[in-house]
Amino acid sequence: MTLEIPKPLFQTILHHLEGAYPEEAAGFLLGRLGENGRKRVEVVLPVENVWPGEERTRRYRIPPEVLLLAEEEAERRGLWVLGVYHSHPDHPSRPSEFDRLQALPNTSYLIVSVRQGRARQAQSWRLTDDRSRFEEEPLVIAEA
Ligand SMILES: [Zn+2]
Repeated sequence: MTLEIPKPLFQTILHHLEGAYPEEAAGFLLGRLGENGRKRVEVVLPVENVWPGEERTRRYRIPPEVLLLAEEEAERRGLWVLGVYHSHPDHPSRPSEFDRLQALPNTSYLIVSVRQGRARQAQSWRLTDDRSRFEEEPLVIAEA
């Protein structure tokens, strides 16, 4: 399924991730299923990367209670938590084995490669039903 992000929200995501460089940063994508059959992002919720210590340059962690808050926020707005975004500082925008192990089903994982502080490439991924690997899903940055 295609993940659609309006351009201003996509820029919000990139600013957040570039600002956190060289650490990884993450957040939630809230939205709804559009009439065009796309998952359309309507709200971006940046969260704190609480992974301890220097490994924050290549790991992120979102505590379960923060996921719960995001789900409550989505419900309040009549939206769903469609996915999670995070950065890969100086690495490609492909999911790592670590990403696969902590991934939830039916969730879009938007990964942005940030090289030397600049966002370079973004790809969206989704866990296959047997959880063995990620599949790329189409990403559309929509003009507002
Ligand atoms: Zn990752």
